[in-house]
Amino acid sequence: MTAKTVPVDPFDLVIFGGTGDLALRKLLPGLLRRYAEGQIPESSRILGVARDAQNDDSYRARVGEALQRVADADPALADKLPEFLQRLGYQSLDATRDDGWDAFAARLHEQGERIRVFYLSTSPALFVDICNRLRDHGLNGDGARVVVEKPIGRDLASATAINDAVGRDFSEDQIFRIDHYLGKETVQNLLALRFANILFEPLWSARHIDHVQITVAETVGLEKRASYYDTSGAMRDMVQNHLLQLLCMVAMEPPATLDANAVRDEKLKVLRSLKPIGRDEIAQATVRGQYRAGASDGAAVPGYLDELGRDDSRTETFVALKAEVDNWRWAGVPFYLRTGKRLPDRVSEIVIDFRHVPHSIFGEAGGGIRSNRLVLRLQPDEGVKLWIMIKDPGPGGLRLQHVPLDMSFAEAFGVHQPEAYERLLMDVVRGNQTLFMRRDEVEAAWKWVDPILDAWKELDDAPKTYTAGSWGPSAAVALIERDGRTWHEDSA
Ligand code: NAP
Repeated sequence: MTAKTVPVDPFDLVIFGGTGDLALRKLLPGLLRRYAEGQIPESSRILGVARDAQNDDSYRARVGEALQRVADADPALADKLPEFLQRLGYQSLDATRDDGWDAFAARLHEQGERIRVFYLSTSPALFVDICNRLRDHGLNGDGARVVVEKPIGRDLASATAINDAVGRDFSEDQIFRIDHYLGKETVQNLLALRFANILFEPLWSARHIDHVQITVAETVGLEKRASYYDTSGAMRDMVQNHLLQLLCMVAMEPPATLDANAVRDEKLKVLRSLKPIGRDEIAQATVRGQYRAGASDGAAVPGYLDELGRDDSRTETFVALKAEVDNWRWAGVPFYLRTGKRLPDRVSEIVIDFRHVPHSIFGEAGGGIRSNRLVLRLQPDEGVKLWIMIKDPGPGGLRLQHVPLDMSFAEAFGVHQPEAYERLLMDVVRGNQTLFMRRDEVEAAWKWVDPILDAWKELDDAPKTYTAGSWGPSAAVALIERDGRTWHEDSA
């Protein structure tokens, strides 16, 4: 099966931070793929911006080297790589200084009015400087869009300050706050499963769903992000954005249309319905952890503090919590969230656990009846599994088995599944904000997260340690088992 590719209009895409990790590892490979698929018109230009003194040719050589690994794995990309590199240019600029901006603006104005995407792939401390200078040089006109990377603040006050500042230079419909989890195929499939089938929606409530689990597990440790991560931690880095956005996609009411504001209105209602977790609930409803030395992918790895080179950090590298959406549809249904570094597998999944049948006709001999489970896997291999009870095949008595109806998207469709960034970058060019966060969503998420962070700070407890390569502190197991439930394992 071939994927249908609709070309976008010609555009200029400027990557502030064009020499950084995100640009070289995700954005430019994603753009190469879209180019190779024929989605990016020839007259489009991609401009890397950073302080480093380079020119177009040396930047092309640097990007070419970074993309060679991607191209080596796919002959179609290797063929197109030289042409793609010709679409690239480089502008040396310091976001905090005026020099060079006139030449940069003149280069963009050369093409007349066209779609201009400014991707802020730099530290958030530079967002305001960059936006102000774009406005001062007349680059915030109608065709302009600005893409804002996480983290958007470290609490409600700082997020509001960033949103205010960016909002002074660009209107809300020009601002694309990216959460790449929303660009994943499975998340969009969640919309399709829920709203393009009659099967699930009648069951999609507290009447038939027992609980929901959302896990985003990483095997990596700090990598090169120590200075950022230690001031952030798992709650700010993962829960406030990725996990809450996934929770919204599960819990939202059906939007009237796929229009960006219709979808975002519904997500906002979910965020506003989250039951607050404050000082009184914190011990029962949350667990913070920090990994100590252990093993990852078969190799011994140091603990967080050794990796950091300090012994006094209380930053959490793991969070488990029990959230509740306090509304008519979800009253009494816990949403268990967990995320962490140095866990045994790199896996992101949403598990919808349905209630038990009200009565079993099978008696003891049939074995127990287990509940139906819908598992939406976001990574490593995207797909959906629906666990159902069937009769154990073969002669003899009627015994039951819990088996998955398994659909791996890659196997089922045999096409390259676009990476989240590929899809989202093309959405920005098209001006489609459905899979991007609106300002009020980001702020509502912080409003729920801030009291948890405050309560942790007030308690001043050290995070519970866990061995690298395990599923977090034992308290995270207790968090769910206290309620008579268990974390999902793939064989369950
Ligand atoms: P990075 O590797 O540190 O790159 C930062 C980039 O910004 C470099 O190109 C740097 O080049 C440029 N830069 C720094 N100061 C500048 C200035 N004053 N003016 C112009 N350019 C400047 O960072 P990154 O990992 O790519 O992350 C970029 C952003 O994306 C951050 O907000 C991060 O939180 C977010 N993010 C990253 C990832 C990821 O996987 N890396 C994932 C999610 C979100 P020069 O030093 O030469 O100027």
